[in-house]
Amino acid sequence: MPLAPLVDSFGRVHDNLRVSVTDRCNIRCFYCMPESDVQFVERGEILDFEEIERFVRIAVSLGVTKLRVTGGEPLVRRDLPVLVRRLAAISGVRDLALTTNGVLLPDLAEPLYAAGLRRLNVHLDTLDRERFRKITRRDELDKVLAGLEIARRLGYSRIKLNAVAVKDLVEPDIVPLARYALANGFEVRYIEFMPLDAQNLWDRSKVLRAEEIIATLSREIAPLTAVPDPDPRAPATEYEFAGGAGRVGFIASVSRPFCLNCNRIRLTADGKLRYCLFAIEEDDVKSLMRSGATDEEIAALVRRNVAGKWEGHEINSTKFVAPPRPMYSIGG
Ligand code: SAM
Ligand code: SF4
Repeated sequence: MPLAPLVDSFGRVHDNLRVSVTDRCNIRCFYCMPESDVQFVERGEILDFEEIERFVRIAVSLGVTKLRVTGGEPLVRRDLPVLVRRLAAISGVRDLALTTNGVLLPDLAEPLYAAGLRRLNVHLDTLDRERFRKITRRDELDKVLAGLEIARRLGYSRIKLNAVAVKDLVEPDIVPLARYALANGFEVRYIEFMPLDAQNLWDRSKVLRAEEIIATLSREIAPLTAVPDPDPRAPATEYEFAGGAGRVGFIASVSRPFCLNCNRIRLTADGKLRYCLFAIEEDDVKSLMRSGATDEEIAALVRRNVAGKWEGHEINSTKFVAPPRPMYSIGG
């Protein structure tokens, strides 16, 4: 029986948890990680499977029903299917999803499916080998495409492709990526470049705005119309191509912030609880757990964290301060 829901001071109910299982990654996307000398958390500081499962059970007792496993690159975490099986078995987790760069999907799509995973977001910005290499500083496009094909055949439902929208870079990829997705039954979600990169490369002029992509797709493929989402708190706005060709989504965090509908909390790989991707403060779940705290004490920390949540990230105001952790160390 769930306890009272997690509500913040703006009345937003939090039922969505993202758990990062590692800050390590096998590629080096420039809008997330530095090219070299990445500072990773010591292995002993990363939550183990027991700690992650315990936290998820506590969150579920507080009303969380949606769970996403992320990273860093979650597929580099050893024995990930074992963890996924344990998380999928928690009654109360109604929606379990995973975000990956897809490089290890050729090996892991099947064991993850067998462990109970059905929903995948695969990060793919381009079908062009050179641009893939430029963006990720690695030559792994073929593995991602092979992994997607295996996942499609296995029957994962509604595979989504996460494409980061960076101006003066990915314009040539917008249409080919959408066509590839439509042909394979995937859905692209264009994510506006956010100020979460490790090298402070972001500025507003580098954001390829959702409106610009919508105009390109409408002109080159077919007119797009916004469709109401069954879950109005989902971050993506969905659009449908005329003629029933399929859908695309937009996560327009910069040009159309959706903070008023936010229902998400995040647990980092090193056990810090964050009420926002852009939060400056965080709460230390791991230390509490490792000092022998009861489930009730941990639940109280989660409630306090959510109760103190700010109204929104203020990217569009002069007050905005980028968080001290880049994307890979938070968990996107
Ligand atoms: N490694 C996995 C991956 O790449 O999908 C999971 C973690 S990654 C941090 C989660 C998502 O964050 C990626 O799919 C990518 O699209 C997105 N992302 C990373 N850096 C970003 C940035 N600066 N702005 C917008 N989205 C970003
Ligand atoms: Fe790795 Fe994902 Fe960050 Fe790219 S976006 S460097 S794949 S964690």
